[in-house]
Amino acid sequence: MEKITFKDLNLKPEILRAIEDLGFEYPSQIQAEAIPLAIEGHDLIAQAQTGTGKTAAFGCSLLNNLVKTGNVGAIVLAPTRELAIQVYEDLNKLSKYEKITVLPFYGGDSIQKQLRELKRGVDVVVGTPGRILDLIRRKALLLGNAQFLVLDEADEMLNMGFIEDIEEVIKQLPKERQTMLFSATMPPQIQKLAKRYMKPDPKIVAIKKVSMTVSTITQGFFEVNQRNKFEALCRVLDYDTPNAAIIFCRTKKGVDELVEGLQARNYVAEGMHGDMSQLHRMRTLKRFKEGSLSFLIATDVAARGIDVEGITHVINYDITQDVESYVHRVGRTGRANRKGTAYSFITPREQSMLRQIRNVTKGIITKMPIPTVEQILESKFTSKTDEIEKVLIEGDFSKYTKLADEICVNYAPVDVVAAMMKMQFDKEMSFNYTHDQMESPAPTRDFRDNRDSRDRDSRSSRDRFSRDSRDRDNRDRDARDSRDRDKDNIDDVRLFFSIGKRDDLTTKNLVDYITEKANIEGHKVTKIDILESFSFVTVSNDVSDAVLDNCSGNKINNRRVNVEVATKRR
Ligand code: ADP
Ligand code: MG
Repeated sequence: MEKITFKDLNLKPEILRAIEDLGFEYPSQIQAEAIPLAIEGHDLIAQAQTGTGKTAAFGCSLLNNLVKTGNVGAIVLAPTRELAIQVYEDLNKLSKYEKITVLPFYGGDSIQKQLRELKRGVDVVVGTPGRILDLIRRKALLLGNAQFLVLDEADEMLNMGFIEDIEEVIKQLPKERQTMLFSATMPPQIQKLAKRYMKPDPKIVAIKKVSMTVSTITQGFFEVNQRNKFEALCRVLDYDTPNAAIIFCRTKKGVDELVEGLQARNYVAEGMHGDMSQLHRMRTLKRFKEGSLSFLIATDVAARGIDVEGITHVINYDITQDVESYVHRVGRTGRANRKGTAYSFITPREQSMLRQIRNVTKGIITKMPIPTVEQILESKFTSKTDEIEKVLIEGDFSKYTKLADEICVNYAPVDVVAAMMKMQFDKEMSFNYTHDQMESPAPTRDFRDNRDSRDRDSRSSRDRFSRDSRDRDNRDRDARDSRDRDKDNIDDVRLFFSIGKRDDLTTKNLVDYITEKANIEGHKVTKIDILESFSFVTVSNDVSDAVLDNCSGNKINNRRVNVEVATKRR
C-alpha cells in the first residue's frame, strides 16, 4: 500500500507549507486517520499513545477549517501549563502562513497581560481549564462564536480533577460546534463526557498501543548488579555514543550521584530534579535542546512535559516502578515515527518488574550483552576509520604533510598512525579499559571527592592505580599520560566552540575561521575535535585572548558561534 502523505489529506497549501518547514515527512497514523474525519466536520474521539503527534492531528484540522470572525473561533483545553505552551507553540508554527492569532492562557502568567491580549483579539485560545474559566468569569473571554472545542490529553485533565471546570467552559460554547477529544487512554469517565457533550455519533479513531513505540523504538535491557551498574552504563554510552540521551533515576539523590560520577569521567552530563531552581532547570533544558549537552539525568517528575526533539536514547538507569511510567519514559524517544533506542538496567531484584513490562507492552525488549572493551574499541575504530577516510577524500590536510614526513623518518608510518589513534581513543573513552572486568568497585564513590575539575584527569588516573596495581606497565603509562596532559594545560588553552558536524563544520572551516578572525598563525591552533554539535580546539596561551575576543558572535556556515574556555571535558 502506498504511504499516505500530507498532500493526500486535503489540507490548505498554507498548512502544507508549514508542515514542510517543520520537516514532517509523513503523517503519523493518528494524523492520517483523524485529520480527514475532522476536516469533514465530524466530532471526534481520538486515542493514541504519547508521542504519536496528536497535537498536529487536531491542530491541522482546526486551522484548516477555522473561519475568522473577529471572535474566538477555537478553544483548546490542556491539563498543564507546560502542555498548554507546547500546544500553543505547535499551533503557532502550523499557522505561520496564515493571519491567525493563537495565544496561550495559563495560571501563573500575568492576568492583566492576558486581559489585554484578549481585548486585541485572538482566534485560537489554548489554555488550562482553571485560567480559562477565570477569564470567562471576568467576561474577558467570550466563547459564544467558537466553532471548535478540543480537549487535549483528556485523561490527564480528568485525573487532575478538572471535570467540573471543563463542564463549566463547555456551557459557554454554542451547541453548533465541532468537538474533538484527544487522549492517550480512554477510561469510562471520558466516554461519559463525550456522550454528554458531543453530537450523537462521534467518529472514533483508536490507534493500537503497540504500533508506534514498538515499531520505531529499539528496546533492550542489560542484566547488572547494583555494584557494576555504573560501569555498565559507561560502557553502553561509550559503545553507542548517543547524541542526546535522557537517563532516568528513581530519586533525586540518585540523579546527583550519577551526574557526579559521569562528570568525573568527563561525560557532558547534567542533572534535573525538583530541588533545582526553575532557572537552573530551564538552562539545562536549553543546553540539552541545543545539543551542547548530551546526557540529561532526570527523575520522572522533572522530566514530565519535556518534549525535546531528536532524543536518541532513553536509558532507565533505574527501572520504573510501574508499567505505565515505563511507556511514558520510553515515549520520549522515537517521537512521531523517528527511530529511537530505549535501554533498561535490570538488577536481579527487578526481574519481576521487567516481566510485567514485557507482558503489558508486548514490545520486544531483548536482553543485550554489556559491550566488551573489544566491542567498544571496534565501534570507535569503525567510526574513526570513516572519519579518516572522509578527511582523506576531502584532501585538506596538506599543511600537516611536512610534519608527517618528519615523524615518519624515525618511525614506521603504521606505528605513527596507531599512536595517534591511541591518543584519540584515550581521549574519547571515559576510561582506559585495561582489562575486561565488570566487578570494579562502585565508581561513584571513588570519584566523589574529585571536585577540582582542572585536576580531574590526573586524579582519576591515580584512582585507577589502586585497581590496576597489578599492572605495572599500565601504571607507568597512566602516570606519564597524566603528566603530559598537565603539561598541555600550562602552555595551551582548550576552547569550546558551539558548532559541530551537524552544521557541516570541517576542520579547515574552523581553522580558517579562527586564524582569520583572531589574526593568528595556523600552527597556534591544534587538537581540533569536531563533535556532533560542538567542537574543541587547543590554542597557545599567547593567542587565546585574541581568539576568545574575536571569534564569538560571528557566523560559520550561517550559524552563530559561541566560544568559551572549555571546562575540562573530553
Ligand atoms: P502527543 O500529543 O501524541 O504526545 P505530540 O503532538 O507532542 O505527541 O508530538 C510528538 C512529537 O512528534 C513532536 O515533537 C512533534 O513535533 C513531532 N511530530 C508530530 N507529527 C509528526 C510527523 N508527522 N512527523 C514527524 N514528527 C512529528
Ligand atoms: Mg499531546
